[in-house]
Amino acid sequence: MNSNPYEILGVSGNADQDTIKSAYRKLALKYHPDRNPGDHRAEEKFKEITKAYEILSDPRKRQAFDRTGSWDGMPNMSEFFTGFGMDDALRAFQDIFGFSRSRGPSPGADISFDVDLDLKDVVNGTDREIRIKRMEHCRICDGTGADPSEGLETCSNCGGQGRVRTIRRTLLGAMQSVEICPSCNGRGKVPKKVCPACKGSRLESRERKVVVDLPAGISTGHYIRLRGQGHFPEKDGPPGDLIPRIRKIDYGKFIREGDDLVYRTLISFPDAALGTEITIPAIEDESRKIKIPAGVQPGEKLILRKKGIRRLKGFGRGDLIVIADVYVPEQLSRKEKKTLEELSNSKHFISS
Ligand SMILES: [Zn+2]
Ligand SMILES: [Zn+2]
Repeated sequence: MNSNPYEILGVSGNADQDTIKSAYRKLALKYHPDRNPGDHRAEEKFKEITKAYEILSDPRKRQAFDRTGSWDGMPNMSEFFTGFGMDDALRAFQDIFGFSRSRGPSPGADISFDVDLDLKDVVNGTDREIRIKRMEHCRICDGTGADPSEGLETCSNCGGQGRVRTIRRTLLGAMQSVEICPSCNGRGKVPKKVCPACKGSRLESRERKVVVDLPAGISTGHYIRLRGQGHFPEKDGPPGDLIPRIRKIDYGKFIREGDDLVYRTLISFPDAALGTEITIPAIEDESRKIKIPAGVQPGEKLILRKKGIRRLKGFGRGDLIVIADVYVPEQLSRKEKKTLEELSNSKHFISS
């Protein structure tokens, strides 16, 4: 087949989406199999223009084509083409012009829940066991919806095919489309008698314990999507997702700045001048003593490298930053006042 989607649709390389869509529409109406019954060449042409449209209407695929000038080596392209039959072309055509919404099986609902963490959880990551209520297949009928003693029988609406043909009026005239049988939801079989436990709904609510792995470095508002761990759907389809979301994190006496942790402490003026030792609350296991050197300036940062939070992306961890603020007395006794007055003109007490 012609390998250039622009040529296939007869549009220029910089055509906008409206132009592309209208070119496709014109050609699709001309070559639509309902207008050309039994015409094999028209069918091929219809498939070809639909493929071309699928590429040019998708900015990512279009860019990939523009870059390489070919659709060889485009990601997923070979799969796209080998798997692209007449049914796909018709479905795409119907989707594009809204004749029918052919949906795949829709997944079950997601389960979102909030998680609150504290500093230790974030520094190292944590496993959190949570309890959820989830819709799963009924254990009595194994998700068939049928009374186990009676079983299933062939659906009379679709004769066991799971699909029914319907005729729709469209701008082409009557168009046939194939849809999932509403009586059996595409399964081709229906219960002889509904399951007494789930009343035929196929599902039951179950309480589950789930262990969620929350990585180090996670932040408030982050969420994790655990695929397929949510509710089972009412019809056939994959389960939804389980989505833990970090609601809040208690950092205790620390302030988080990216992956760094900031600890502010207030020391006395003599301690600042003479040097001292302070205790920092536990970040991981134990509180830690650190030395404040003599002559530390108010607001000076003491940086302990790689003692902060492990990075969510990449390796290593942030720093622990200790800021020593110096407390200036607001009230003084006579004796204190006298001592300070004696010192105020002393050589080392005047900044140079
Ligand atoms: Zn059916
Ligand atoms: Zn059941």
